[in-house]
Amino acid sequence: MKFNANSKIVIIITSLLLVLSISISLINFVVSLNAKQYELKNRSLPLSVENIYTEIQRNIIEPNLISSMMAHDTFVKDWLHHQEDDQTKIRTYLASIQQKYGMFLTFLVSEKTQNYYSQQGFVEKLSTADPDNAWYFRFKEQSKHHEINLDYNDQLHNSMIMFINHKIFDQDQKLLGATGIGMEMSYIDSILKLFREKYQFTVFFIDPNGEIILRERDTIAMQNLSDNPQLYALKDRILADQSQTLEYSDQDEQYLLKSQFIPELNAYLIVQAKLDDFTKDVRQTFLVNLSISLVITLIITLIILTMVRRFNKKLQFLARNDTLTQLKNRRAFNDDFESLLALTKRHNQPLGLIFFDIDNFKTINDQFGHQSGDQALMRVAELLKQRFRKEDLIARWGGEEFVIALPGTTEDQAYILAESLRQQIEQDPQLQTLTHHPVTISIGVTEYRTPDNYDTIFRRLDNAMYQAKRAGKNQTFRTKA
Ligand code: GH3
Ligand code: MG
Ligand code: MG
Repeated sequence: MKFNANSKIVIIITSLLLVLSISISLINFVVSLNAKQYELKNRSLPLSVENIYTEIQRNIIEPNLISSMMAHDTFVKDWLHHQEDDQTKIRTYLASIQQKYGMFLTFLVSEKTQNYYSQQGFVEKLSTADPDNAWYFRFKEQSKHHEINLDYNDQLHNSMIMFINHKIFDQDQKLLGATGIGMEMSYIDSILKLFREKYQFTVFFIDPNGEIILRERDTIAMQNLSDNPQLYALKDRILADQSQTLEYSDQDEQYLLKSQFIPELNAYLIVQAKLDDFTKDVRQTFLVNLSISLVITLIITLIILTMVRRFNKKLQFLARNDTLTQLKNRRAFNDDFESLLALTKRHNQPLGLIFFDIDNFKTINDQFGHQSGDQALMRVAELLKQRFRKEDLIARWGGEEFVIALPGTTEDQAYILAESLRQQIEQDPQLQTLTHHPVTISIGVTEYRTPDNYDTIFRRLDNAMYQAKRAGKNQTFRTKA
């Protein structure tokens, strides 16, 4: 019953510790998760968009100026007007610009002849039937004076080429043709790769129709926003002038996405982050925290359990034993004696009993002090433990009185044992040193007789001992005639 109450306490403490550690870990987890999401949403993602945007603009300004300069060059206009036959001049011109600025391509289209020239000279005559030439006829029809096109060019190293096209007009605003540059955009590829590897962001560009015009090769399969219904549903918000960070989920994965319109490219820059990639370490920390808390809880529980067990054992010991002599106390004796009595009756075996009281113990205390009295009691107990068998029941009855129950022993045998004990105590040198006198005891001896019970046995035993006292102490009295 005691253990039940104790285990209840252990269970309650363990549960409280568990609730505490789990909730602290959980709160920590939620707070870190929110902080991480907030950071991603309001700092990392917008900052990355900003960085890429700036980088791209920085890389567009110079080529755009070069292209514009070519379109306004009087030499180019003169040549188109009067000297188109002399192709070496234009080839030299285009080649010098291409070399000077490290362009991939410089080109010129004559509206009059529909001839397409590059830094290598004449390339081809443009035809409306050739889809590769479609860009010129489309550009020509548009009101804007320049445009930037992004194109994967499979022939040109399989890489992304940015074309900056400018229209050429004479002083009457009549279209003379178009000129411009083409440059490899490997730096964009590097930016995209850098952002994916360093920040785990996926970066791509879409045109206003949702068509993906620029992406890191092999990382994005989709061709158009419409390929992904979840993304397509956000199309209007992605293509908004002022886009905020958007959230969507796809195949059980949470994504954050931010877009930014780049007017020079007429394209939207999209930076996308998979939430899981950023919360992985938060979840890992949570699991580590939780495991540590659980282990600590387990250790505390084990410590409490051990302490409770030890405490219980001590309590049990104290409840049954005499602290001074380490012998059983009267309560423990009574408990054990009940069983012994039952066993004796069942097996019809003899059961001898010895009960004794130290003579004039008060005088020992008075003369040599309580401490010596205690030591005398301990010595007597020690002698009892040495003398009697394991199955004998030895107890301190109280004060300076002791009792020994001897299973399988008759009164006659018990009497002999008692007498020998009395002599041993009387002659014990240690006791004599303590009290400067022989210590003597008065003993009563009896045995179990049917139909004895506890009361009748002890009444008889007590009487025998008092008879010994009355007869002058230091002797053994038995109840059998
Ligand atoms: P008698 O021969 O008639 O038994 O005389 P007595 O002095 O032994 O008898 P009494 O019962 O009057 O005194 C017993 C004394 O034992 C009284 C008590 O102070 C002492 N005593 C009881 N328990 C302890 C103990 O644990 N330590 C010590 N030092 N003395 C104890
Ligand atoms: Mg006494
Ligand atoms: Mg006494």
